This record gives sequence, structure tokens and C-alpha cells, in this order.
Amino acid sequence: MPTRDEVLEELGLQPVFLPKKAATKSAPKVQKAAQSEDLAAKPRSTQKGAIAVASANPAVDDARAKRISSLSWDELVADIAQCTACKLCATRGKTVPGEGARDASWMLVGEAPGADEDASGQPFVGRSGKLLDSMFRSVGRSRETNVLIVNTLKCRPPENRNPEPDELAACAPYLKRQIALAKPKLLLTVGKFAAMTITGSDEAIGAMRGKSYVYEGIPVRVTYHPSYLLRSPLEKAKAWDDLLAAKKFSDAPLG
Ligand code: URA
Repeated sequence: MPTRDEVLEELGLQPVFLPKKAATKSAPKVQKAAQSEDLAAKPRSTQKGAIAVASANPAVDDARAKRISSLSWDELVADIAQCTACKLCATRGKTVPGEGARDASWMLVGEAPGADEDASGQPFVGRSGKLLDSMFRSVGRSRETNVLIVNTLKCRPPENRNPEPDELAACAPYLKRQIALAKPKLLLTVGKFAAMTITGSDEAIGAMRGKSYVYEGIPVRVTYHPSYLLRSPLEKAKAWDDLLAAKKFSDAPLG
């Protein structure tokens, strides 16, 4: 187990000695950014419940969701690659089904691919991915060994805009099937859209952190999105606390 100093160094938080003036000056910025992640966590749609599916054609959606619910991992990846269920198929580069050990004990649910992910077909390979990897390293986890990384959307929204309700609904059966296939011991959501999709709660991330949720019998923990942490580095310590709590939680013996 790394020491606190080692972890803070890994997360780029060590040492943080700001001259008094600079520290005072930068405080409102951090506060503002923190607020914006929380405010942004307010619901943008009328979706209710975890992984809600809603569209103009419920019969077609039901048939599609049913078909997806029986796919194997490889069939799922192939299906995602061919998907035209929402408008993102017109602008995407590569689809991004996910990455990591399919039997990993942790499943991380992010938001949607960005430019780097759209080009590579892998989740979290840009700057936020590097931070995510360091955060995982600090708690003895990695996508190579014991974390499976997926997103709520498998295609990039243009200009990295927020996912739209119809896109989240169209992609929901894929996420649902991924969770059913992986059966992780813990679901860790990063950012507001993943939290909302998995928990069905429209609370702010700040209010959800530290609470326990359950999705289909699987414990869920919520934390900030790494891209938010890149904009608000002093919040990284909270995300680290969340990872430590998640580790303690998932390492605890069942009973
Ligand atoms: N942000 C996400 O939420 N997912 C990615 O794959 C990349 C950036």
C-alpha cells in the first residue's frame, strides 16, 4: 500500500505550497469549478430510474434491447461497431466499446469518448485517461489487470458536447449488457452522466460521493470525472478518498 505522500505525488498534488497571495487568489476559481460540476449534475432529461430507456418507438426499442440482452462479449463489440441507433453514428470515427479485463472486479463507467478515444477506439486514452490510470495505480488497480473501463456512450458526441437523452437511451442496452456480462464486484461512476445513468439519481456529485448505491445487486460508488479534476486539481484529493473508500468497500469480506 503506497503512503499518502507517494499517492499525492502520483496524482501530481505534491508538494502544494502556494504563496499566500496566489493561494487566496486561486481559491474562488476552485470553488467555481467545484460548483459547476455539481450544478451540472442537475438532470437534463425526465429520465427516471437507473439506465432508463425512452424513445419515440418503444416496440422497436424493446426488441432491440431484448436482442442486445442476449449477446456475448464478442457479439456485443461487433454490434456496437455496426450501431446506427442514434445520430452519433454519422459523426463518429471509431466506436469505443470499452477496455480491460472482462472478469475485472471493478467496472469504471465514464461518460463518452473524446477525440483521442474516437481516433483510437479505446476509452480514456487522452489526458483524463492518464490521470485515471495514475489514480488507479495509487490503489493497486489498472485496466491491464483488474478494472474494466466502459462509457455510457460508445460514440463520441461532436465537439465533446454533453450526451443527449436520446443518445443515452439508445446506448443504455449496451451498458446494461456489459454490466450483466462482467458482473463486477463494484461499479465506479465518474462524472454526472455516468452517475445519473447508473443510479437514477439527479443529485449533485458532491452530494452523492461517499454514499452507497446499488445497481442490480452490485454496489455503486460515485466520484468526480477526471477531466473535471484536471480543471480543478485541488479536488483530486477528494477523488483519491473516494477510491480508497471504494477499495475498502470492495475488499471487505462478504457477510
Ligand atoms: N471521458 C470519458 O468519459 N470517457 C472517455 O473514454 C474519455 C474521456
